[in-house]
Amino acid sequence: MLNTFRPPEVALPALASFADVAYGLSGTWTRLEGERDQNFRILLADGSSVVFKLCHPAEGDEILRCQAEALEHIALADPGLPVPRLKRTLESDLLGCMVHEGTQYPVMVLSWLEGSVLGEAALSRAALYDLGRLLARLGLALRGFVSGAPAERDLAWDTRRVMQLAPQVENLPEADRGLAREILERHAEFTTPLLRRMRSQIIHGDVHPFNALADRTGFVSGIIDFGDMVHGPLVLDLANAAGDFLNPAQDPEETLFDMVRGYRSLSPLEEEEASCLIDLIEVRLLMTPLIDALKSANGIQSQGYFSSFNSRSMPMIRQLRSIGHDRLKGLLRRAAAFPANPDPHPKLVEEALSRRRQVMGEKLYVFYDPPLHMVKGEGVWLENSSGRRFLDCYNNVPHVGHCHPYVTEAIARQAKTLNTNTRYITDQSIEYAERLVALSPEGLTAVVFVNSGSEANDLAWRMAKAFTGKSGGLAMDFAYHGVSESIDAFSPSNAPDHWRAPHIRLLPAPCLYRGVLGGDVAEPGARYAELAAEPIAELDAEGHGVAAVMIDSAFMTNGILDAPTGYLRGVAARVRAAGGLFIADEVQSGFGRMGTAFWGHRHHGVHPDFITIGKPAGNGHPVGAVITRPEILSHFLKAGPFFSTFGGNNVACAAGLAVLDVIRDEGLVENALAVGAYLRDGLNRLAARHALIGDVRGIGLATGVELVRDRKTKAPAPAEIIRVLNLLRDEGVLVGGEGKLGNVLKIRPPIVFSRDHADLAVAALDRALAKL
Ligand code: PMP
Repeated sequence: MLNTFRPPEVALPALASFADVAYGLSGTWTRLEGERDQNFRILLADGSSVVFKLCHPAEGDEILRCQAEALEHIALADPGLPVPRLKRTLESDLLGCMVHEGTQYPVMVLSWLEGSVLGEAALSRAALYDLGRLLARLGLALRGFVSGAPAERDLAWDTRRVMQLAPQVENLPEADRGLAREILERHAEFTTPLLRRMRSQIIHGDVHPFNALADRTGFVSGIIDFGDMVHGPLVLDLANAAGDFLNPAQDPEETLFDMVRGYRSLSPLEEEEASCLIDLIEVRLLMTPLIDALKSANGIQSQGYFSSFNSRSMPMIRQLRSIGHDRLKGLLRRAAAFPANPDPHPKLVEEALSRRRQVMGEKLYVFYDPPLHMVKGEGVWLENSSGRRFLDCYNNVPHVGHCHPYVTEAIARQAKTLNTNTRYITDQSIEYAERLVALSPEGLTAVVFVNSGSEANDLAWRMAKAFTGKSGGLAMDFAYHGVSESIDAFSPSNAPDHWRAPHIRLLPAPCLYRGVLGGDVAEPGARYAELAAEPIAELDAEGHGVAAVMIDSAFMTNGILDAPTGYLRGVAARVRAAGGLFIADEVQSGFGRMGTAFWGHRHHGVHPDFITIGKPAGNGHPVGAVITRPEILSHFLKAGPFFSTFGGNNVACAAGLAVLDVIRDEGLVENALAVGAYLRDGLNRLAARHALIGDVRGIGLATGVELVRDRKTKAPAPAEIIRVLNLLRDEGVLVGGEGKLGNVLKIRPPIVFSRDHADLAVAALDRALAKL
């Protein structure tokens, strides 16, 4: 494994005549340093220079050929990369072959790179960053180069073979042995298995300051000497250079951080590469004294730059150790754009909860006691900090599934490209608006972007007031539409016993199970709609008039009602007759949740003046919008401009577009309809066995299960619901509670929910009810 070659010594006249015949080269020859080749610079008549390498006859022809091919590959892959260009012979061979006194010497001729060998000089921070980028470029340029030749090279300098040098630890000064052993043990145990599964390719293998040329501005202007090229883990080029460019005159943390950051700016690292960089750097540093010891044992004296490295290796390792392994690992992970600590989550929910109380207050609402500490989501599954998976039958924000890869990639890609606001023309906002308009009913062609459902409703309400000149509104009697002051007035469920909003009237819920008109009403849709007449008249009489009615087509907070046919159309007609507008709050019911159509209002056959969207639109990324008629928007804008800083930003729109793609590509509207019906079939079968189930209702993947203590009296069972929710949690199934009486199980999963998931949920509910 150890290279014990000495460079050949062929007299200059013989070389000059060979160069002339084989390459057509003549000029002034100057000897260059070389460990195993006899190297010269030839200054040609035109003022340019080449490097003439008479290689050691024992150097494998295959390896040299591979080097030559690699250089030609780089010239094609990244023509600007400052590495030597190969000059072929006059016969167009990759290598020359000089026969001298019965020995065959391979010859390689390369272009001369300007600059001076960097050597012991230190690089500025900007130059280190730039060097990192250069290494990344080198890796990218070699990525597609295929050659079997260097795969099995037994090079002493190959980090993967460092354990072969382990016996040399005994030949180190006694004071260094403990540290050396520790580094090697860690390498064998921890790093070696990682290296085996890391992405690998042909790499340079030996980028160090004596193989780097610097220009007059102090930046690296060239990388030379491909003699240690090997097929190996890509990260080794960065790790080796990072170790070798540590300079005693500089802060090692800055050097490492800048180089890795530069590398990463062009070529992302994989997380394992980033995590073991510091270990690889230590090993690289340790290899110099180990190889030196091996050389001494073979009677070879270290000289030149090798001694320079050797004298600073162990002190540098000690300096790194004094900074601390964990700190450096975190630093390099951050430089590679990974969080410093790969797993910052406390494992104990108690710890997380007490930290939360300190900074987020006592009163903020959490589900479950003890609460769940979630750390990961995937599809319809959530995982907590103890690694338990829960079937998510509750959350509608991760509409197309938690962390859907298509959506997260779209978000990440856009975040890396541009994220700005709609005061500029941006392609994503235009496309997203176009796609929303194409999905919306006729006439609704104006989109205004905001960041949440509350904001969308707030804005729609402002527009409705401006357009109608009226100030009164209508909402359902247990509605929720958001958090702003104006929308709080539309949200009696926020504070059922304290709700007061003189300009708002509430409509009784059109509930066929326990509504105000009783169970058996003929034409319930029309009859319930008639109940809007009186509040409208009151608002008119009080001088408010009706600017708008705001309705969630899924009637989610009201307990997921199957609103009777014609109800919404009837209410809309009455509101319009009074000069008001219809705001379809599609935060819950939109994006295919109800399965019969993309929008909930379509399910009810009503034509709105506004659609407001939020929660599911960005699958977790904040996205909100109002879609309305252009004349309503123009009217609103007469009073002054409207601008939401984050509304419609590129990343939000990229998320929104990705969600629309997934819904279309995965057929999720149809899925919601079919799986929702299948789920309710299962729940209805449970109702035959569990008297607590009073009613099963809903459409698509919005399902309500009303629990009652007595099916005749329909006495609600709110306390039982809490127990059921907790029992379901114990079963690993997350469901919510809902409704004015707090006795409705809300089953509202991501709409990628499948029949198998429905079976799991039904079986869990069966067991939970049995345990009650
Ligand atoms: N409208 C409805 C029907 C909602 O369910 C919600 C949120 N649950 C909102 C509006 C408010 O949305 P946000 O929380 O994004 O402000």
